Amino acid sequence: MVQTFLASLTAPLLLAGCATLPASTAPLAPPGPLAPPVPLAPEGVVSAADRRAAEAGAAMLRLGGSATDAAIATMLALTVVEPQSSGIGGGGFLLHGDADGTVTSFDGRETAPAGATPEWFLGPDGKPLPFMDAVRSGLSVGVPGNLRLIEAAHQRYGKLPWATLFQPAIRLASEGFVLSERGRQFLVSARNRAGRHPEGRALFYDASGEALPVGATIRNPALAETLEKLAAQGPDWFYTGTNAAEIARRVAAETPRPSPLTTADIGAYRAKEREPVCGTYRVYRICGMGPPSSGATTVFAMLKQLERFDLAAMGPDSPVFWHVFAESQRLAYADRERYLADTDFVSVPVAGLGDPAYLAARSALIAPDRALETVEAGTPPGIALAPPDGLEPEERGTSHFVAIDGEGNAVSYTSTIEGLFGSGIVAGGYFLNNELTDFSFAPTGEGRPVANRVEGGKRPRSSMAPTLVYDANGDLYLAVGAAGGATIPVQVARALIGVLDFGLPLERAFELPVLFAPGNTLLVEQGTSLETMIPALKAMGHAEIVTRPLPLKANGAQRTAQGWVGAADPRSEGAAVRE
Ligand code: GLU
Repeated sequence: MVQTFLASLTAPLLLAGCATLPASTAPLAPPGPLAPPVPLAPEGVVSAADRRAAEAGAAMLRLGGSATDAAIATMLALTVVEPQSSGIGGGGFLLHGDADGTVTSFDGRETAPAGATPEWFLGPDGKPLPFMDAVRSGLSVGVPGNLRLIEAAHQRYGKLPWATLFQPAIRLASEGFVLSERGRQFLVSARNRAGRHPEGRALFYDASGEALPVGATIRNPALAETLEKLAAQGPDWFYTGTNAAEIARRVAAETPRPSPLTTADIGAYRAKEREPVCGTYRVYRICGMGPPSSGATTVFAMLKQLERFDLAAMGPDSPVFWHVFAESQRLAYADRERYLADTDFVSVPVAGLGDPAYLAARSALIAPDRALETVEAGTPPGIALAPPDGLEPEERGTSHFVAIDGEGNAVSYTSTIEGLFGSGIVAGGYFLNNELTDFSFAPTGEGRPVANRVEGGKRPRSSMAPTLVYDANGDLYLAVGAAGGATIPVQVARALIGVLDFGLPLERAFELPVLFAPGNTLLVEQGTSLETMIPALKAMGHAEIVTRPLPLKANGAQRTAQGWVGAADPRSEGAAVRE
């Protein structure tokens, strides 16, 4: 039951991918390297942004746990060892793929309080609040969704007892973990978040306010206690009673509104099973997370608009490849800005955005030698009156991880508290997210409502793009995702092109540089081979090119002839651990 681009059009799109697409989008290029045969006795693997968290997941596999069990233990361990990025105080999206091709997606996105209004992020003067003022307040905190998400996933796909999944995280929180160099850098650069409250200061800073040194052992007894209660009593402990009261009290104390987050909002939270969004790219079936995430629609649009080009022949050293990729990004992001939001509140043309004829028309705008002067959102099928663009400044936190079990099931899970250390508000040893700043601060534009405006009980639009790829035989081939705010869909598309078109192993595909073009300006990853291509890109008409470090962090796994192999972005501390 895949709703998808393929919603009512599963068969037509599959057919179209081979035969009836306009010539401009028919896959002229070779299908890319074929995936190797499925190994007879696959061994499980977990890849995560921190080796200790990947190890927590792999420990579940060794106990006979499923990919879901492993992914849950990884999420919980990341709450402890990567507190700047994700955790139980935030939300996420989990994609589950059976070896037989059934894909299920769970939405654990944070929700706005029932009392939130479209003016939530406007100041007394009616103008959008300064972004960081909104982040470092109770206004940014949505009801955390990760615990209801893992409850739903565990009920469906878990094999181990619930309490078992918590044991590695409890141990890491109570016995402590060693602060890495990168971890310390975050404590220094985000001191005004991590150290905003006494609890955060006590965890990570010395008496003089200095971040603890690299190599220090960080213990978090409050979080260990929270995790023990959750292990024993289940997620209801989190969403009711003293924990819910504690969250509400702390958030309300920093919410300059008469209608802050309440215990009723927290108690009402539900994870939602959503139909995954799937489509075909060359011979592969690609599945991802639909609204409220923009992940799948944006990844798919970029790929589909590029399908008519022979990317394999161009290769990653060709400025033409990066030019057409940039153009495809510009087109896909224009649509994303305009249309993507929570489908429980606004109508999103998901099928229209994936419609082959629509994407063929968008692709036809891409010239291989000349940049478009301006790019605007299109009008996909299913749109009566297009909403105006929103105003969504974005931040960079988040963690992606994948787990594959011995039966060949895969979980691709992106978990987040939004920016570094979320809102900086701590309850029970964990950081509360600032996910609501993913809403548009501007409620209207051109006199009409913005799709991603704040509304009571709504979920903010996300960039997170947990992805699964099946090969031409219908066998699971890749599980991929990334962190890094709005760059996420581009990182995922780059990895998929790297493997499916260039024939690189996934780890090498993660090494490819990133060129991020969400609008007219091209952001080129600093210190990479892309810098040498800037003159060529300029000659093709890209007037604004900025070189800068980008916040990149991808994780995934790939089926090879030797079995499943985990991969982690070399820019990160990520690691893969085998069963
Ligand atoms: N909050 C962002 C989102 O859901 C993710 C932030 C990040 O990856 O850094 O899209």
